[in-house]
Amino acid sequence: MARTLPGLSDRLLWSRRHPIGHTARVPLLKDLRVVRSVIDGYGVVATRPFVAGELIADVDGVAWRDGDGVDDRYSLWIDDGLYFDMVDQTRWINHSCDPNAGLETGVSEAGAVWAKIVARRAISTGDEISYDYAFPASLAEPCRCGSPSCRGMIIDEDEMPARSAAR
Ligand SMILES: [Zn+2]
Repeated sequence: MARTLPGLSDRLLWSRRHPIGHTARVPLLKDLRVVRSVIDGYGVVATRPFVAGELIADVDGVAWRDGDGVDDRYSLWIDDGLYFDMVDQTRWINHSCDPNAGLETGVSEAGAVWAKIVARRAISTGDEISYDYAFPASLAEPCRCGSPSCRGMIIDEDEMPARSAAR
C-alpha cells in the first residue's frame, strides 16, 4: 500500500491552489526517471526509446545573471554572464565524453532563455541519458564516464591542454 506522509497530500493540494511562482512548480518530465547512476551519484534514464534527433526534454529552468547570487551547481552557461538554473529532472543528467544526447541552448526574440536535450543516437528504454558538459578549463573536474574515448576530465574538448601533442 502506498504510504503518504501525514499532511503531505494537504500540502500538495494547497500548493496547487496557491502557486507561488514558477520555481515552485518543478514539473515531472515524461519519459525520464531519476535513478542511482553507474556514472556518478544520481542519473537520468529513458523510460521509452528515443530515435536520433528526437527531443528528450525541454528543460525547465530559471535564467540568472552574474551577481545574482544563485547556486550555480546545476546551471547551464548560456552566454557571457547569463546562466540557466535547471529546475527539473534534467539537472541530474550526467556528463559523458561519449554522450548519447546533446544540449542545445539559446535566447528567444522575446528574451526567454531555453534549453533542450536532444538524442544524438538511438536510445533504448533504461539507457542513461548523458551529454557533454564541455566545462571551461577553469572548471574542469575528473571524469568517471567510463567511455573508451574518455578525456579523463570533464572539460571542453577545445580546452584540452596539449591536445595536439596527445594525438
Ligand atoms: Zn569521460
